[in-house]
Amino acid sequence: MSDTVLDAAFFIRWMTEMAAAVDREVDRLTELDSAIGDADHGANMQRGFVAVAKMLEAEGPSTPGAVLVAAGRQLISSVGGASGPLYGTLLRRSGKALGEAPQVTRRELRAGLQAGVDMLAQLGGAAPGDKTMLDALVPAVAALGTSFEAAAAAAEQGALATVPLLAKKGRASYLRERSIGHQDPGATSSALLFGALAEVAK
Ligand code: ADP
Ligand code: MG
Repeated sequence: MSDTVLDAAFFIRWMTEMAAAVDREVDRLTELDSAIGDADHGANMQRGFVAVAKMLEAEGPSTPGAVLVAAGRQLISSVGGASGPLYGTLLRRSGKALGEAPQVTRRELRAGLQAGVDMLAQLGGAAPGDKTMLDALVPAVAALGTSFEAAAAAAEQGALATVPLLAKKGRASYLRERSIGHQDPGATSSALLFGALAEVAK
């Protein structure tokens, strides 16, 4: 199977598409976080990715790795909730793993994102099945070995599969059994991230 070559412009389009996707879904993210959190996930993601899109437009980093590192830093500095440092770490670590290459392949991106997801898991102390963003991110990164669309579908499925789970990390874990029956907000925004990636790869 062919492996697409991705440049800095592609990564900027990815982050910009993610900002647009968050904008479209902000109410849904807020609703999901009102059920099992503090109703700020929509606002957190919107504030973060609006800032990322603005920064990228102004600075235009010249390599894929630099785009993700700058996006990650921006999320960490502009988002107050747990999701800011977690997504920030994911993108920054993934960007570092891509190094200074002017172009990367989908498989190289997969390996970079794997490093980012591993670091996110370390930072948050969560594992798949704990009802967090990792439940979408881990299967998505694995499926990115196949295709962008497979990764987006896996993230979507992973987010849906959080509904029956009992939350073990983050605010939702304070609810114990009452967290069951609700979709995790962070897993839902992670599905948006991979949906945006598949969209720009079309
Ligand atoms: P906060 O929980 O501080 O209000 P957000 O509402 O923006 O932050 O984000 C909540 C999401 O963050 C959760 O739905 C979950 O997916 C994710 N999350 C929370 N804690 C962790 C953790 N320790 N590891 C991984 N993801 C986490
Ligand atoms: Mg919240």
